[in-house]
Amino acid sequence: MDRELNFKGNSPLLYLISTPIGNLDEFSPRAIEVLNGIDFVAAEDTRNSGSLLSKFNIKKPFIMCHEHNEEEASTKIISLLKEGKKIAYMSDAGYPAISDPGERLVARCIEEGIKVSCVNGSNAALCALVCSGLPTNHFYFYGFLPSKPSEREKELSKLKVREDTMIFYEAPHRIDATLKSMKEAFGGSRRACIGRELTKAFEEFIRGDFNALCELDPETLKGEMVIIVDKAPQSSKELSDDEIVELLKEYTKDMRSKDAISKIVKEKGVAKNRVYDLYLSIK
Ligand code: SAM
Repeated sequence: MDRELNFKGNSPLLYLISTPIGNLDEFSPRAIEVLNGIDFVAAEDTRNSGSLLSKFNIKKPFIMCHEHNEEEASTKIISLLKEGKKIAYMSDAGYPAISDPGERLVARCIEEGIKVSCVNGSNAALCALVCSGLPTNHFYFYGFLPSKPSEREKELSKLKVREDTMIFYEAPHRIDATLKSMKEAFGGSRRACIGRELTKAFEEFIRGDFNALCELDPETLKGEMVIIVDKAPQSSKELSDDEIVELLKEYTKDMRSKDAISKIVKEKGVAKNRVYDLYLSIK
């Protein structure tokens, strides 16, 4: 077991800094203070981080640490930290290690007894989730689906039964294909929300079911996007007779009994004859 207060003593500590996902005003005063006090900035992309830091008049030497050199870069960063140098790591946007490099660096630091601390800030997944209107009590972060359609569909078919809200990152050139694969896997009536261009001038939340989202003109889906997907409907195993009767009473208030039965069968995956028998018992 290792246990040590992060800000007591002089043992080495790596800072992980969250950077803005669009609006630069989200770069926190604490991030600026930490960066002003360190010796090196380790970054996914030194040009990108260089231009962010220059906006805040911060000039520091960089160490490149991206997905293709994370292992060697971690060795270098760890040896500098052990020499007493102060270092912070940042990826291109949002939190390092969240669909970005950093996970390996953090694991290596922990293996080597180096403390790690996070300077909080923007994150696309949580920003989209909290604005989606979908349940936030339990959620599952998936990140990027595989780009190959057959692998993407395989993943989605495993996810269709998850009973927590799901969060996906997606690139604009794949959004249309991904929405269609999601409709296929989760069903057209599953609710979802696309959070687009978060924190930027053209920020937008598009809420609807997959039937509606698949009708969107792909030309209007540009920029960076997060897809939030509602949890799976309660499975038929878990719906009690009383719950089905409640649904029947509610739905038949404003639709024909035949339609109410079909809706329950489709949305909740309950066998049609079970719903029909329960309908007969309350008729
Ligand atoms: N590390 C980042 C974080 O903490 O959110 C995520 C980096 S990942 C490489 C980039 C993906 O995050 C994009 O393809 C998009 O799905 C999502 N993303 C990043 N910025 C966004 C924004 N401003 N609006 C919507 N989605 C965004």
